[in-house]
Amino acid sequence: MAASASMPISPAAAQPALAEHRIVRIEGRVMQDRYPRTVGRNAKLNSHGRGGSPRIRILETDQGVVGWAMANVDDSATQKFIGARVGDLFDAEAGTADEAMPLDKPLHDLAARILGAPVYALLGAKGPREVPVYSGAIYLDDLDPENNPRGIPAVIDCCRQDYDLGYRAFKLKIGRGFKWMPRPEGIQRDVDVTRAVRARFPDCRILVDANDGYTPDDFRGYVRAAADCDLYVIEEPFPEEREALLRLKETMEQAGCKALIADGEARKEAGGASAAEGEAKPTTRYGGYTREHMDRLYALAAEKLVHVFVIDLDIVGFTRWRRVMPELAAAGVQASPHAWACTARTYYTAQLAAGAGNVNIVEGIPGAIEGVDYSAYRFKDGNLVMPGAPGFGLELKR
Ligand SMILES: [Mg+2]
Repeated sequence: MAASASMPISPAAAQPALAEHRIVRIEGRVMQDRYPRTVGRNAKLNSHGRGGSPRIRILETDQGVVGWAMANVDDSATQKFIGARVGDLFDAEAGTADEAMPLDKPLHDLAARILGAPVYALLGAKGPREVPVYSGAIYLDDLDPENNPRGIPAVIDCCRQDYDLGYRAFKLKIGRGFKWMPRPEGIQRDVDVTRAVRARFPDCRILVDANDGYTPDDFRGYVRAAADCDLYVIEEPFPEEREALLRLKETMEQAGCKALIADGEARKEAGGASAAEGEAKPTTRYGGYTREHMDRLYALAAEKLVHVFVIDLDIVGFTRWRRVMPELAAAGVQASPHAWACTARTYYTAQLAAGAGNVNIVEGIPGAIEGVDYSAYRFKDGNLVMPGAPGFGLELKR
């Protein structure tokens, strides 16, 4: 059954096709992700290296359809699905069945390939076909190497490299004064970097992310100093708290800063997921995020103190994202799911954005997993153009 890439899939028409396939093979592999360069520090963590080792699962059906995606789980959680009917593990309308959540993303890829359609069409094609994306790989490279720091030109170089790839938005890590530099100098460097990128890339959007590395007072100082840089998003300036965000809002209004506030990535309590890239255990409707955490975020959103939720793609979980996106939209809040650190997560997030809608911008991670072909995707005017290729549009080369 083939579907036009531009059309949503009818769940009623899709389900019989899924029921015709049984899974006959489930293969786990550990892959090697490669960034185009070593990625430096953020406010709190040391170098982010050259790419991690994501685990994937490859699913094959008795009719020879193969789907695959990241699935950071043990074999004991997946092998039991050999022999299962795809239609019993996956519902075209609701997504992955609870018991099959360890294979949530591989099942999305497989189901979409059975239907001959991109994942976003399976999700209803409610978002744009050209998805805004930013480079999420602009870290504190000015501070390295430690014995001879390269300074601001190093950050400009990173932006230039990603500009040449097609990016027209950069998320600058800030918060140098949290622990890497004396606080006043660190704040000044953050301001100088922001101004330098704005001057060199006038056609690009600028987002900033402090990883909660500022005090509320210091951050208001940063905003006043960078007010004329036309910031698009401010992410995690300090641990989210109503009074501090009210004061920030006031300062932004006075300074003419119209940035959206993005928050929620860092959890306040231990949830059900063990790692940022781990598959979330279904503890709440929001996966590994607690009800308390989400209630607090929604309360801040109701006062327009937070505009974008940056809760993680996989801590929530792909299927649960499909289910909760209408709740965010109803609350007047957008999503920009946290996608760092694996390059493939950018494309999973882009498919979610094109499928479920309500995503203002996707976190882009330059680079690719070795042995995977990403070429179905291309940039146009800084947006990622969604391919008509089936599944997530990422092809295993071997
Ligand atoms: Mg962040």
